Amino acid sequence: MMNKSMSVPVTAYIGLGSNLANPVEQIKSARTAITQMPRVQELGFSGLYSSPPMGPQDQPDYVNAVMCVATDMLPLDLLRGLQSIENIQGRVRKGQRWGARTLDLDILLYGDQIIELSDLIVPHPGLANRAFVLYPLYEIAPELRVPGKGLIADLLAECPMDRLKKS
Ligand code: ATP
Ligand code: MG
Ligand code: MG
Repeated sequence: MMNKSMSVPVTAYIGLGSNLANPVEQIKSARTAITQMPRVQELGFSGLYSSPPMGPQDQPDYVNAVMCVATDMLPLDLLRGLQSIENIQGRVRKGQRWGARTLDLDILLYGDQIIELSDLIVPHPGLANRAFVLYPLYEIAPELRVPGKGLIADLLAECPMDRLKKS
């Protein structure tokens, strides 16, 4: 079903993460904001997961989810749209890599495209070794093939759930 006018929509997957200022609400607000983008339609949304932080450990656990959308936005336009939602929800970039944040929206996949631009790498470089990406992605797309990396089921089999928990 396509109830917004789109030319040749692509199926894209977006990773959502938050560990500040009521993360569950941040994820819900982001889902609403993404759905309200004019050229984006939601196709699926995973359950919520919690995971310990990557990088600096002196920060709260994360809440993560993955969303599937249909869109005819160009990849960089989608990235800019997601970044503006991050900013509206109070994302502050302090320069510390993987520091605490109200909202992180990453493009995991954009159709079957491989993109290597200075501002955008797709499939997302962390996808294959991050449990908090692979498990929610598998939940909504168990048959998925990740361009250049293989079947999601095979990637998942190599990535222990570790301390990831489904909420
Ligand atoms: P990571 O990308 O390892 O998950 P992060 O999400 O914390 O780390 P950010 O601070 O959100 O990193 O983004 C840093 C830069 O990553 C952005 O300015 C953006 O241009 C770039 N970037 C490259 N590929 C992607 C992608 N697939 N999705 C989102 N941002 C990306
Ligand atoms: Mg990220
Ligand atoms: Mg990011």
